Amino acid sequence: SIPLGYFGGIGAASKEGILIKGSQYLEALKNMETVVFDKTGTLTKGIFQVTQVVLAEGVQKDEFMECAALAESMSNHPIGASIMKAYNKELSLHKIEKHTDIGGKGVKVIYDGIEILAGNHKLMEDAGIKYLDFMDIGTVVHVASGGKYLGYILIADEIKDGSLGLVEDLKSEGIKKTVMFTGDHKNIADYVAGILNMDEVKSELLPQEKVEHFEILKKDKRSNATIGFVGDGINDAPVLAMADIGISMGSLGSDAAVEASDIVLMKDDPKKLVQGIKIAKYTNKIVV
Ligand code: ADP
Ligand code: MG
Repeated sequence: SIPLGYFGGIGAASKEGILIKGSQYLEALKNMETVVFDKTGTLTKGIFQVTQVVLAEGVQKDEFMECAALAESMSNHPIGASIMKAYNKELSLHKIEKHTDIGGKGVKVIYDGIEILAGNHKLMEDAGIKYLDFMDIGTVVHVASGGKYLGYILIADEIKDGSLGLVEDLKSEGIKKTVMFTGDHKNIADYVAGILNMDEVKSELLPQEKVEHFEILKKDKRSNATIGFVGDGINDAPVLAMADIGISMGSLGSDAAVEASDIVLMKDDPKKLVQGIKIAKYTNKIVV
């Protein structure tokens, strides 16, 4: 039987916008020693602004932006949404014959028989396309059409207010290690992890590599300690599902994320996790 206090804990948490799917996760929260965070949409807002467009030689900006928008027109990634917002002209979407999401790399469409790519340097390398290097801090989306490199868009995301001071608050609650996993470029990953004082950062990860790195953390943990993963479900649903405690962000997160997770933070505030841990500890005191 489940001690009454646990129901109290789940109720108290739900009043705070923290949905806990079972009393075992209160116990797991209490024993959590390591927390792994996804970056985009979890620690950062996932609302990108286009800050710069850099064109390859001889490419017109109109042609470039149209290709970028065509590539992103069917993407559900926050990067895609921001590029579509920056491009507010008509598109002949009926000419898109095929659309493929390439997890951790970008998107590909076949448009009127031509392959258009938008994504990071890995996507360009896979297609054997030479791309321009960049210097600035930000997320870069390279664009190519018919095997020809067109240039890149630099987009900037913002760190959430609730991410600042988060590591410090978690440490006061007894969390020993904080880690950031991201598919994004090392430059921006190190920059964000540095601001937030993360203990570890793993960047340029494909969805499968996130799983592999999580498995390594699991092997290293003490027997009754738990590891939590906080993500938005875009390219990280497998890790959410395999974590001792999978924690998703409700309002931005996908339905799949809510489904795959054990705890849902209804507000997009990572600090809600700290509150959840406090409630878990308090609940346990009542039970004992
Ligand atoms: P994170 O782990 O930070 O949440 P993702 O795994 O969702 O990042 O994506 C990793 C990287 O893949 C992005 O930083 C971007 O470079 C590239 N990418 C993913 N989806 C898209 C897209 N729709 N358009 C362009 N690039 C994309
Ligand atoms: Mg993400």
